[in-house]
Amino acid sequence: MSVERAAELMARARAGVALTGAGISAESGIPTFRGAGGLWAQYDPVKVASIDNFLRDPSAYWKVAKERGPAVLAARPNPGHHALAALERAGRLIAVVTQNTDGLHQDAGSRRVIELHGFLFGEAMPIPAVEEAFALARAADVMLVVGSSLVVYPAAHIPSAAVDHGATLIVVNAEPTPLDRIAEVVIRGRAGEVLPELATLTSAA
Ligand code: NAD
Repeated sequence: MSVERAAELMARARAGVALTGAGISAESGIPTFRGAGGLWAQYDPVKVASIDNFLRDPSAYWKVAKERGPAVLAARPNPGHHALAALERAGRLIAVVTQNTDGLHQDAGSRRVIELHGFLFGEAMPIPAVEEAFALARAADVMLVVGSSLVVYPAAHIPSAAVDHGATLIVVNAEPTPLDRIAEVVIRGRAGEVLPELATLTSAA
């Protein structure tokens, strides 16, 4: 079984690094961008969220923000966020690199969280965070990707950088990703269900 195999790998990790995307917060009630039920099925991302269009006419952005804001403000960490915090406390993860803006990893108790995002399409990524994320990837022995479509760059390059430097890749996602082909273990499922099982099996391994 793939969760068991992933737990064996996590249990041996000395420098595990997680990379998370919007999918880990879906079960906290925050819609993803892509994938089933994602926001881009309802909105045009270039119209709504590009920095250029926002500066020209911010009304489309604020309309979506008004609809989406209450869900983000009310969101609480789910068992997936808590499982990653537990893996860090157990010494199996040294950091969580996240593409998310919701702060739920910190709320769940993850201590080293690197936030890798602008606040709108077209906005530059924070350079120190990008450098730290790639340094972690190069040092990682296990890279655990959770809830990311792995199509947004530079975040999507991080797992390949880790694998190129000798890490083993585990992907937990509801749908296929372009990097499944280089992963040692691919688990197709919901983060809030898979990660608690992974954390429990890792502590028992
Ligand atoms: P994405 O929307 O491109 O992809 C999300 C992926 O998660 C999809 O492949 C989907 O199949 C998967 N998924 C959905 N529900 C899942 C679940 N319960 N368990 C596991 N997987 C699940 O998100 P991305 O890769 O993070 O990249 C896009 C951008 O989205 C990022 O820049 C990020 O800032 C932004 N974003 C953030 C939030 C947030 O802060 N919570 C929400 C939406 C978008």
